[in-house]
Amino acid sequence: MGIALSTAERVAPVVARPPSVATVCSHSSLQIFYGAKVEGFRTLGICAGSPPKYYDAFPLAKPDEFLSVPKLAQLGGEIERLKQANSVLIPHGSFVEYLGPEKFVQLDIPIFGNRAVIEWESDREKERVWLESAGVPMPKRYANPSEVDGPVIVKYYGAKGGKGFFLAKNRQALEGFQPTGPHVIQQYVLGTRYYIHFFYSPLSDTGYRVGSGSLELLGMDRRDEANIDELYKLGGHEELLRAGIRPTFVVTGNVPVVLRESLLPKVFDAGARIIERSIELFGGMVGPFCVEGIMTEELEFKVFEISTRIVAGTNVYVHGSPYSDLVAPDLSMGRRIALELKRARAEDRLREVLS
Ligand code: ATP
Repeated sequence: MGIALSTAERVAPVVARPPSVATVCSHSSLQIFYGAKVEGFRTLGICAGSPPKYYDAFPLAKPDEFLSVPKLAQLGGEIERLKQANSVLIPHGSFVEYLGPEKFVQLDIPIFGNRAVIEWESDREKERVWLESAGVPMPKRYANPSEVDGPVIVKYYGAKGGKGFFLAKNRQALEGFQPTGPHVIQQYVLGTRYYIHFFYSPLSDTGYRVGSGSLELLGMDRRDEANIDELYKLGGHEELLRAGIRPTFVVTGNVPVVLRESLLPKVFDAGARIIERSIELFGGMVGPFCVEGIMTEELEFKVFEISTRIVAGTNVYVHGSPYSDLVAPDLSMGRRIALELKRARAEDRLREVLS
């Protein structure tokens, strides 16, 4: 089953009556449902098999109804049920991952945001073209090991959650390295990590103006990554490698952080450039996105990745962050999505935020 409707046709039912906010029960779904409920939307939880029991523990975030499918990869066969609920799908990392980006963009159901972004984000090469041509500072990339002039991180394509990444502190440590698949050799940036939670509203005409809309900074987090975060306790890197212990970057949680105020212009500049370039390349990115980077001791913000949708790090701010509190009280990313949807309906501008 592929895409048959035009955007206008897909969006028409949402113009006619209030939609259900629908997403897959995982990742940031509790926050998405909670925010949608606060703004008066019905909510639909999509799950593989029975609804997750842990939802019973969080009544304020439990969706009004569930749509259970045997496997999420089969969601394409449930289009009629999604339509009956007048669903607007909210993409998050696990939703796109479980379904697969190709299948996700084929769903003939309105998606919050521009579905064209998925193609640009899920291909590491395209993402690089986007960020580089936006003029965002990024880690150096080496075409082959002989060029290496400092610490590197070797990333395999499709290595989900940073498993199988290889670290080397200099060219010598890379000697004899045999790649096991398509990869990039990237400068290992020394500094401190920040994952910046932005929201781009094409509807807003106040605040920090970018394009014809506004860029909002709603929070930032740092990821807890296993096993790398605690690995130093066991000894030096080479020693560990000899013992057969390899670093991994599997996200297990998130912690709230704030940035030195004088560094805020650098992250706003990166966010604005990414949006401006997205408008030129594919008609713009809408709604939540995350700029993931490392602040060096020279106070340069090097961006190693972006996520083009709500990230799980926003879960630390269900009632707002030190930044979103200065935009509006009690403003989580989940609620921000619901507010944009509500405004777009009220102003008859749904086609600017749905695709
Ligand atoms: P995920 O799917 O979990 O986002 P991924 O496979 O896309 O992971 P990245 O997000 O690129 O991988 O990197 C995973 C982690 O590796 C980062 O969160 C960060 O801790 C570390 N990392 C990535 N690139 C660099 C870099 N250039 N320098 C230093 N650390 C890095």
